[in-house]
Amino acid sequence: MAISRGNLARKKMKAALLTLGCKVNQAESSAMMEDLIQAGYQSASALEADLVVLNTCAVTQRAESEALTILRRLKRQNPRALVVATGCLAQLNPHKLLKDNLADLALGQDQKASLVELLKLPKGQFLVTTDFKPSFFYHHKPERTRAFQKIQDGCDARCSYCAVPLARGPSRSQGLEKVIEGLEGYLAMGLKEIVLTGIHLGQWGARLMPPNNLETLLEAVDKKLGSKLKTARIRLSSIEPLEAPLVEKALKRYSWLCPHLHLPIQSGSDKILKAMNRPYDSKQACDIILSLSQQVQGLNLGTDLMVGFPGETKEDFELSYNLVKSLPFGYLHVFPFSPRPQTEAQALKQITPEKLKRAAAAKLRALDQEKRALFLLANQNKPRVALIENTTHRLSGRIKLLTDNYIQALLPIEIKAEPGSLMEVYIGSSLNRWRLAEAYVDHSKNEST
Ligand code: SF4
Repeated sequence: MAISRGNLARKKMKAALLTLGCKVNQAESSAMMEDLIQAGYQSASALEADLVVLNTCAVTQRAESEALTILRRLKRQNPRALVVATGCLAQLNPHKLLKDNLADLALGQDQKASLVELLKLPKGQFLVTTDFKPSFFYHHKPERTRAFQKIQDGCDARCSYCAVPLARGPSRSQGLEKVIEGLEGYLAMGLKEIVLTGIHLGQWGARLMPPNNLETLLEAVDKKLGSKLKTARIRLSSIEPLEAPLVEKALKRYSWLCPHLHLPIQSGSDKILKAMNRPYDSKQACDIILSLSQQVQGLNLGTDLMVGFPGETKEDFELSYNLVKSLPFGYLHVFPFSPRPQTEAQALKQITPEKLKRAAAAKLRALDQEKRALFLLANQNKPRVALIENTTHRLSGRIKLLTDNYIQALLPIEIKAEPGSLMEVYIGSSLNRWRLAEAYVDHSKNEST
């Protein structure tokens, strides 16, 4: 049933929004939810909603399968809901989502901005455009304690394994004044953490007239908002290795910029980096990472690693493993390669056997645990400023928090704290059974100050 305004007037309709994938999708989902609420919907769980929107991801085969599984489950568990699929998978392959009535409507990226209007489309239809409008940036009231502010979309790079440039189009950036205006808006709402996000954040400003870059943007933020940022902070989402030097000075200089960077290196083998069409070699990546970690106090550096790229030998994997082991990363995200439709790598023939891929991923995931433990040890009993989350940990009932340098921790049960506020905590030495750190508060310090 298409939802008409008449229906809305009679009964408050319920809507649920489910999000897969990156922080840009999260930012866009919050904006879509806000549009739905403005149109008269109320937020509900997927099981009780009249409308469920799934914002999909297509970056890996696994993300795609997850979207299809969720849709199948939704249709089974809540058959009366209108199910709308949007996001990268809907943009790249709407037919797959409409097949067997998995979704009632499939909408592309640019259609997210007019979701409410498009709900009137007859069931079984899709609407996908490929002109990728330059202006899909907006500000919304976040549902969580931190806001994801999208300032860039699309990507001008052509990594051979990646379908994202096809699903998101060329790089577009929000103008500097609008970025500042957005940040000011969030600060006025009382938000204590704003994450600047983009599909290829380091390309921010490259196609603006005149061209601009992240370094200038962060300087302008400090100039305009530095005083307001004394009680709030900004975090940067993922940034490509060659673009990380653009933010090094700001990380060193501005206390409002969280000492945390996610810098995907993907491989430590120059042969594989070349085949991936990544624009750096292992030495360049290594120099950038070492410089950042030496220059920026307390910095937590994370990375993405892909295993099983076609042609990757045991020797190539060992190069990656040894490089990552030697570098001061605080955590690793490991992704087994999966061929994506319409990418260069899809046609490559030297497929790595699944068994080898699984073993390589397991070895890197064990290294990830070692890296996390080492990072905690380096932070043991040191004060960090943490953002208090608005949900408690499901199993322990304890308050969750996130430090400026990206340590997720739990407060002791007896400590109370205001969701969304910043608080000074100390970090324990090891991960607990839920793989989270333990945080504690220094009462003697609080009493004396
Ligand atoms: S930089 Fe490479 S991996 Fe990242 S979105 Fe662009 S093409 Fe994909």
